[in-house]
Amino acid sequence: MSLSDADLEFDRNHIWHPYTSAIDPLPTYPVAGAEGAEIILEDGRRLIDGMASWWSAIHGYDVPELNKAATDQLDQMAHVMFGGTTHEPAVRLSQRLVEMTPEPLQRVFPADSGSVSMEVALKMAIQYWAGRGRPSKQKFVTPKFGYHGDTFGAMSVCDPENGMHSLFSDFMAQNFFIEAPALGYDREVTDADFDELESVLENHADEIAALTIEPIVQGAGGMRIYSPQWLEGAVRRCRAHDVLVIFDEIAVGFGRTGEMFGVDHIDAVPDIMTVGKAMTGGYCTLAATLCTDEISHGVCESEAGVFMHGPTFMGNPLACSISNANIEKLQASDWRDDVARLEEGLRDGLTPARSIDGVEDVRVLGGVGVIEVDHTVDTAALQAHMVDRGVWVRPFSTLIYVMPPYILNSRQLRDVTDAMVSAAELSCEQSDGS
Ligand SMILES: *Cc1c(COP(=O)(O)O)cnc(C)c1O
Repeated sequence: MSLSDADLEFDRNHIWHPYTSAIDPLPTYPVAGAEGAEIILEDGRRLIDGMASWWSAIHGYDVPELNKAATDQLDQMAHVMFGGTTHEPAVRLSQRLVEMTPEPLQRVFPADSGSVSMEVALKMAIQYWAGRGRPSKQKFVTPKFGYHGDTFGAMSVCDPENGMHSLFSDFMAQNFFIEAPALGYDREVTDADFDELESVLENHADEIAALTIEPIVQGAGGMRIYSPQWLEGAVRRCRAHDVLVIFDEIAVGFGRTGEMFGVDHIDAVPDIMTVGKAMTGGYCTLAATLCTDEISHGVCESEAGVFMHGPTFMGNPLACSISNANIEKLQASDWRDDVARLEEGLRDGLTPARSIDGVEDVRVLGGVGVIEVDHTVDTAALQAHMVDRGVWVRPFSTLIYVMPPYILNSRQLRDVTDAMVSAAELSCEQSDGS
């Protein structure tokens, strides 16, 4: 039940980990298990988890209700093709999603990952305009610093520099990029903040199917928290130019920002919305794309007559059952209080980082806490530094950030923020010395 040195050697030589070099891979930590808010390493060390396994394990690990949903569903069936069948797990989950999200979003496409749900969203937008007799609308407008996934369509709306678009430029769709909204949830927004968007819309609305955007927090592209006013203003301007709006809620959905969804911060509704990550509480992959009846009908009035997508594991009953239990547990919990508690603890605990020379910004919203430094961090060194302090955080680029499980208690949260501040000190000292 544990990895030998030869196994770890095999891992280094034969397995590709996320965003790592095959020639000089970053170190990996053998994990034996996880329970509550802790990851248990094979050597017995227990780490308080600041990442929630890439923002998905909102209730922590080894959650009795989710375990039960999985085993109960296994007794029924693990999977059945969704073409020509339906089943209770998928229907219940779709009922929940339709009920939880803004009223106009009525149709659910179950997808097998966040990236796929974004591909589906982009295709929906293009097929919609084809169905409405405007087939020239096949491009997208999107702010810089966005992240929407690693498949080619999704990549084409990710930040062009972070996503290294230059590598793929002949292959990848070319879209319109605007400056990202300025930082600050409480920032007062003026008309001038929309000049660039207005100008792209005025000049290119005939080519643009939709705006794609992560509401309120841009995640992996920079952990940038921005004003709901900006989001609302952007939606209004797109509407005025017959450009659809796609909200990518994969990172912020299911309570992360203190509201159930990013859209709940504003008084406007997207045409298409994607959810994923926290949807199964971190147990397995599942995502979904929701759209309005106007969109689903437009799509099906296009030449194809149907929506052109259908993954093998679409609507996987096991994943849907776990997701149902996850959402039920979330809704029955005091998640608003839990996230508010995280926000307070993060604000408090990260404040000392503000006075470190080399720290550019400290920002917090709900269960998102970020220290941004003025240099690219050494991921492996900082990770090792925090593991020594019993904390699991994975810094990248200029960011030492956390999106922990909602169940962290105040002592655990304090350990996490102390480790982050200490890592920021170390990183700034080292970069200063070099
Ligand atoms: C993670 C993420 C995705 C991609 O989801 P995967 O499940 O990794 O394919 C897309 N959009 C946002 C905002 C994300 O955070």
